[in-house]
Amino acid sequence: MSVTANSSATETQAHRDNVSDEAARVQRLAGQWNRVRERLQVEVGEAEYRTWLRQMTLGNVDGDEVTVHLPTRFLRDWVRSHYGDRLNALWHGEDPAIRRVDIRVGRGLSTGGLAESLAAPPALPKSAGAPVQPSGMRAEERMEARDQLAVTLEPRFTFQSFVVGKPNEFAYACARRVAEKPASQGFNPLFLYGGVGLGKTHLMHAIGWELDERRSRHPASVIYMSAERFMYRFIAAIRSQSTIEFKEQLRSVDVLMVDDLQFLIGKDNTQEEFFHTFNALVDAGKQIVVSADKSPSDLSGLEDRLRTRLGCGMVADLHATTYELRISILEAKAVAAAVNVAPKVLEFLAQRIVSNVRELEGALNRLIAHANLFGREITLETTQEVLHDILRAHDRRITIEEIQRKVAEHWNIRLTDMASSRRARAVARPRQVAMYLAKQLTSRSLPEIGRRFGNRDHTTVMHAVARVGELIERDAAFGEQVELLRRMLEG
Ligand code: ADP
Ligand code: MG
Repeated sequence: MSVTANSSATETQAHRDNVSDEAARVQRLAGQWNRVRERLQVEVGEAEYRTWLRQMTLGNVDGDEVTVHLPTRFLRDWVRSHYGDRLNALWHGEDPAIRRVDIRVGRGLSTGGLAESLAAPPALPKSAGAPVQPSGMRAEERMEARDQLAVTLEPRFTFQSFVVGKPNEFAYACARRVAEKPASQGFNPLFLYGGVGLGKTHLMHAIGWELDERRSRHPASVIYMSAERFMYRFIAAIRSQSTIEFKEQLRSVDVLMVDDLQFLIGKDNTQEEFFHTFNALVDAGKQIVVSADKSPSDLSGLEDRLRTRLGCGMVADLHATTYELRISILEAKAVAAAVNVAPKVLEFLAQRIVSNVRELEGALNRLIAHANLFGREITLETTQEVLHDILRAHDRRITIEEIQRKVAEHWNIRLTDMASSRRARAVARPRQVAMYLAKQLTSRSLPEIGRRFGNRDHTTVMHAVARVGELIERDAAFGEQVELLRRMLEG
C-alpha cells in the first residue's frame, strides 16, 4: 500500500469507511512517518536529505519501537550514527508511545520516493576503440568527467574585485602566491580560514580564475568544490561502484580546492577518502587549497592525522573586517555598480553592519535596487527605511544584560542594582539610562524591558525613556555620557 498520502485525509477516510483497525493503524503510522521525514528534511536541508535519508523506508511498529529500513549497510550505519537520535526524538514527538527508531538494512512498506539523483551518478561515456587507460577511461573522458566534478567559478570572485585591507592582506597574498606558483615550498596546502562571509570562497575562486588565465603558459587542471559536494560525489561513486574512477579523476588534477572543510566533521568515511586524495596529490607535487571556518587546530572532530597534514603548509586567517575595510569594500562595490552613494550612507552602513561582507554587500545591493526602481537618490533616511529589517536584526545582537552591565560599570554601581528597588539617585539614574538604551538599542517591548529590570511596570520604563531623553537635551555632559555608552555598546 502507498504510504505517501496526506495524513489527516487518510485518517478521516479510515474512519468514514470503518476499515479494520489494522489499516487505520498503518495509515496513522504513515502520517507520522511523513511528518517525521518532512521535519528532518527541513532540519538537515535538501542536499543532505537527498544524500542520506531519502531512501529510508518505513518498516513496522513493534510495541514502542518503529523500524526504518535503508538499502545498504553503509547507509544504515551512517544514518544510525548521524541521524539516529533525531529520528528518535522526532518520532517520539509525533507519538509519545514510540521510544525508539530501529534502523536496519532492508526494504519497508514503501519507498517513499526513491533517490534517483544519487542512484544515477554522471554516466561516463564508454570508450570505443581508442587507447584505454588502466581504469578503462580515455584521457578525454577523464577530463570530461573531471569537468563534471568541478563547479563553475563565480565570475565576480576575482583578485581584481577583492578589496585588500589589514584583516585579509595576508590571506590575499598567500592566495596570489599559490595562483602564480602552485605547489611551491611552504605553501602547500594552503589553508584559509575565517568566519562566514569574510571572503574565503571569493579567494578560492580567484585562484581558479588566475590559474585559468595562465593556462596557456602553464597548463594546469583545477578542481574547485565544496566539501559537501566532495562527499556527495564520493558516496555516489561508492554506490555505483565507481570509486576507482572517482579517485583517478581527483588525483589527476594539478590543483584541488575544497571549500568549507568543516562540513566533513563527523563524516569519517569521507574524511578518510579526502585524506588519501590529499596525500596522493601532495606527494605528487600538486597544490591543495582548503578553507574552513576554524584553524586546523580548532577543527575538533577532524581526524588527527588529517588535521596535522592540513596545518603543514601555509595557514592564513581572514580576520573580522575593520571599519576601514568595510568602507573600502562599499566604495569599491558602489563604483562597480556605477552608482553614486553619499559617503554618509556608506559610513552608516559600515558602522551598523559589522558581521560580515556578505551582509554588507546584500544591504548595499538592496539600496541600489531600490534607488533604481524608484529613481530616487539614496539618502540616510531611505537607507533606514529600506533596510529596517536588516538593521533591526543587527540591533538585536545587543542584549539587555550587556546594556545593564556596561551602564553599571560606567557609574560604578552593582549589576544587581539594575533590578533592585533602591531609589537613591546614584542608582536610579543609571537604571533609567539602561532602560533608555534597552529601548533604543534592542527590539524588546516596554513590558519586556520592565521585566528584566526587577519586574517593573512598563509605565516605569516609559517614564525612564522620556526622562532620559529630556535630560540629554538639557544637560550636554550627561548627553555625552549616554552617547558614549551607546557607541561602546554598538561596538
Ligand atoms: P566566505 O566563503 O568566507 O563565507 P565569501 O567568499 O562567500 O565568504 O564572501 C561573501 C561575499 O562577500 C562575496 O560576495 C564576496 O565577494 C564578498 N567579499 C568578501 N570579502 C571581500 C573583499 N575583501 N572584497 C570584496 N568582496 C568581498
Ligand atoms: Mg564560502
